[in-house]
Amino acid sequence: MNWTPRVKPIKIRRLYRYARLGIYDDLLLHDVGWELYARCRDIATVADVYREGRVPCPKCRTKITRRIDPLFSKGEGGTHEHWFHCPHCAGRLLWRDCRQALRDIPRCFDCRAVLYKEVGLRCACGKTWSQEAYKQSVRTRVLLPCSHCLNLVRRPEPPAMERTVRMRKSSPALQCPKCQAVALHQHGNIECAACGYKRRWRDYRKSLKKKDEKLECSGCGYTFRWQTWRKSTRSLRTGNPRPAREFVKRWLRCRTPQQRMIQIDTLLQTLHGRGPLAPLFIDSGEHNIRQMLDDLAS
Ligand SMILES: [Zn+2]
Ligand SMILES: [Zn+2]
Ligand SMILES: [Zn+2]
Ligand SMILES: [Zn+2]
Ligand SMILES: [Zn+2]
Repeated sequence: MNWTPRVKPIKIRRLYRYARLGIYDDLLLHDVGWELYARCRDIATVADVYREGRVPCPKCRTKITRRIDPLFSKGEGGTHEHWFHCPHCAGRLLWRDCRQALRDIPRCFDCRAVLYKEVGLRCACGKTWSQEAYKQSVRTRVLLPCSHCLNLVRRPEPPAMERTVRMRKSSPALQCPKCQAVALHQHGNIECAACGYKRRWRDYRKSLKKKDEKLECSGCGYTFRWQTWRKSTRSLRTGNPRPAREFVKRWLRCRTPQQRMIQIDTLLQTLHGRGPLAPLFIDSGEHNIRQMLDDLAS
């Protein structure tokens, strides 16, 4: 996959230097803005793969449905059966997104204010946590702030067995690993009538998780491996693709240099507040990025 490279910090600095003097260099704004746009689109594309289980072909971008259904892969987490809606804002959520949001920006569990990072974590309301205790809480609490509206939401119950079975039945046809004929999931096994292959369903699932899936594009015939594709996205994966999605939408609506500067600045300020996100967009060491964003914000 030809992913867009991250944006060079030198261009961003130049942009701000001019903006401070009241100069809007539209060529430079376009340059930086479209690079950020392409990067944001890649981040959104990768986030979609983990939600939908469909991988864009590296050659032609046709979306290929994975046979290893991420619905079943806890590690990949994108499970539609686990969607739930926030009772306060009706936003669609995955529990792991609520967790990830707190890892990106730690907040007080009581008053939900952003915590100060000192030796540990401290809230203006007086509560404190050690880094370890906070991490542990994010992992184990059953009430966390909604990643959209920050009201507390309760961790959903794991889906009922009956529902899970129904989802399995509607999922794409199973292939016999031995002869590639259509196989069935029945009696707790995967069974193939064509060659007689039979294996415990649970063992079969486990072996699939370990297996590196081969993907074939229905559009251009190109074949590639899931693990290779996944590795190519390492610097694009985030539990919090929202700032990237927002920028994609807003950038296209910009009509003037001033509007373009505002959108670029909005994105960079968001990254500033969410330290771990910035290296996804900007090509520099983490420390340098933080320093630069500090400078720009001041
Ligand atoms: Zn949502
Ligand atoms: Zn607090
Ligand atoms: Zn909400
Ligand atoms: Zn078979
Ligand atoms: Zn293709």
